[in-house]
Amino acid sequence: MEEIEEIIEEILEQIDANRSDVEKDLKKFIDYGVPLEHAKEAILHKYGVILKERKLINIKPNERGICTVAKVIAIDEREVEVRGSKRKIYRGLLGDETAVLPFTAWKDFHIGKGDVIKIRNASSSEWEGQPRLSLSEWSEVEKVDHDIDLVKRPPQRYNLIDLRAGLSNVEVRGRIVEVEQREVNIAEETKKVFSGIMEDETARIRFTAWKDFELASGDVIKIKGAYVRSWRGAPQLIFDENSEVEKIEEEIRYEQKVVPLYKVVEAGGGIDLCIEGVVLEIRKDSGIIFRCPKCNRRIREGICEEDGNVEGIPDLRIKALVDDGTGAVDVILNRELSEKILGKSMDDYLAVAKEAMDYGVVYEEIVNKLIAHPLRIVGDSIQSGLIVTIFAKDVELLAIDAEKDAEELLMHMGG
Ligand SMILES: [Zn+2]
Repeated sequence: MEEIEEIIEEILEQIDANRSDVEKDLKKFIDYGVPLEHAKEAILHKYGVILKERKLINIKPNERGICTVAKVIAIDEREVEVRGSKRKIYRGLLGDETAVLPFTAWKDFHIGKGDVIKIRNASSSEWEGQPRLSLSEWSEVEKVDHDIDLVKRPPQRYNLIDLRAGLSNVEVRGRIVEVEQREVNIAEETKKVFSGIMEDETARIRFTAWKDFELASGDVIKIKGAYVRSWRGAPQLIFDENSEVEKIEEEIRYEQKVVPLYKVVEAGGGIDLCIEGVVLEIRKDSGIIFRCPKCNRRIREGICEEDGNVEGIPDLRIKALVDDGTGAVDVILNRELSEKILGKSMDDYLAVAKEAMDYGVVYEEIVNKLIAHPLRIVGDSIQSGLIVTIFAKDVELLAIDAEKDAEELLMHMGG
């Protein structure tokens, strides 16, 4: 009985209806043996035309027919692949007097940061234990012309390595590694932005400041009220006139440690990452390749997409799938690092290929030398689609006893 009371309360929270009507409807469903949750859905649907506006704090995961008024705090456009075709989705944060929630819009509702919008017929899913609003084809969004005072919550403290796109009101501390100023035009206004890299003991991260906080490299600062967006898949820290920035007297240095790959994949990448893993695959476009002398693009059969027939310049590179048992990334090694790890120069390989009259032998040799070998890589990454790619700045082959772990790993993976 208590459960029924609860359901009635939940229903009345979402719709304007007479309590006894709802009770009567619910009883009818129960008498027919309809499970409570289904009965609730059916009743909500019945009254769906008069959805009640709700505050964000009252929204729970996995609800439908949500109606609310909220302010767009941040919005980010992003391209995803759905069944082979590319489409744009929008992610960001919505806030009202009671809460801030992440949202995803599956189509362009032409909304921007600072807009106050009335939303009808949204749904919610669960994301890291929190509700996330979803605006779909069936949702209605309409701009309203009054403002909303956003909820004031104490900022949450994070280490840089734990930052994820979508977080807001975060507090971090760190050292500015580099910062540069540039100008951007927004709505015919020139604004100064300051972007660079900052670090704490756990990671390095890109940041953008939309206000002049007089940051200089070497400064150690504490930032309150920053938020995190994604930049080429990796988290980027943003702070602006709503954030508090304070210089502090603390010694902070990034101590490069091996990061498990699941963390890299979860974060969508990062900079100056150190990872370790076993080579599971050498991608087909590894080995000797030819580049256009004009635009440096990779060319095929002497033809550049951009410049037509050209005399290609040889280059050596390796693109490898590296796995550490918790996750996998693609790693790209340029000529210098490829030569380092293979112990041969590109000229050696060009000679071998010429003799065999087949560049494929170079690929074969890379496969033989590297498959199932553990590597340590330091580099920056970007994400495209679901794959994180790390552009290596350094690479080393790991020692033999680490190889034993690698065998175990391969066995464990059924390799
Ligand atoms: Zn070209």
